Amino acid sequence: MNTFTAEVTCIQDLTHDVRAIELRLLEPDSLSFKAGQFVSFEVPKEGQPRPVTRPYSIASPPGQRDRILLVLNLVQGGPGSEYLFSLREGSRTSFKGPAGAFYLRDDGARDLLFVATGTGIAPLRSMILAQLQREPNRPVTLFWGLRSQQDLYWQDEWAALAAIHSNLTVVTTLSRPEPGWQGPTGRVTTLVDERVRSVANLAVYLCGGSGMIKDVTARINAKGLCPVYREKYYDE
Ligand SMILES: Cc1cc2nc3c(=O)[nH]c(=O)nc-3n(C[C@H](O)[C@H](O)[C@H](O)COP(=O)(O)OP(=O)(O)OC[C@H]3O[C@@H](n4cnc5c(N)ncnc54)[C@H](O)[C@@H]3O)c2cc1C
Repeated sequence: MNTFTAEVTCIQDLTHDVRAIELRLLEPDSLSFKAGQFVSFEVPKEGQPRPVTRPYSIASPPGQRDRILLVLNLVQGGPGSEYLFSLREGSRTSFKGPAGAFYLRDDGARDLLFVATGTGIAPLRSMILAQLQREPNRPVTLFWGLRSQQDLYWQDEWAALAAIHSNLTVVTTLSRPEPGWQGPTGRVTTLVDERVRSVANLAVYLCGGSGMIKDVTARINAKGLCPVYREKYYDE
């Protein structure tokens, strides 16, 4: 694992508590990684003598090596997310990476199902962008669970990608929608129950909290055997 220094080149508030941060690499000036991997920041934690380490998945595709995109939500009082939210355009930072065994595999001719909750979308975005480029025809489905309309982001980006790539299906479900939501409601487990007919020709990638990962894995296993790759962000 290398240590990188980088400059914040773009900050975008995607929702009331989710932010995208683009980092341009300074030294070394490029980063080679597998779609799905993460980088780690060492940040100070109040009351602790040593910094703590917090990993963040790379949301940009691996073909783009001079800058990476992170997407994260603010956890009140959380040292990692508060540190990253304190960065401004032009700020310098450093991180270690890339690391992680959650990356896009070569699973023969299997269709791909990606399931995310919240900012678990980050590594899946990198994987899906890489996948669409490496094999433009293989069926790819993304189920993304968010809470309510105020938590929605990147909907236009996914719609635009799906319009270009007829093999890509993106479904966002809201667990606690406000009145007026026309799309699917409930948890991503409901989408898996209702829309995944067979897993015989499927490889599955899951990213988010432990509850979703456990529940979706159980639903998939109940349908049969297939590769299931998982990245747990936190315990619920
Ligand atoms: C491999 C890996 C990659 C990760 N990539 C990302 C990423 O791309 N984007 C991202 O937002 N987070 C990501 N995380 C989570 C991230 O590393 C931190 O745990 C998170 O930002 C909270 O850290 P903190 O220091 O701010 O708060 P902490 O004080 O460490 O966390 C306090 C509590 O907040 C809860 N929590 C942690 N993460 C979240 C979350 N994302 N949403 C809601 N509650 C949470 C947990 O219950 C945790 O115990 C990743 C985690 C792992 C293991």
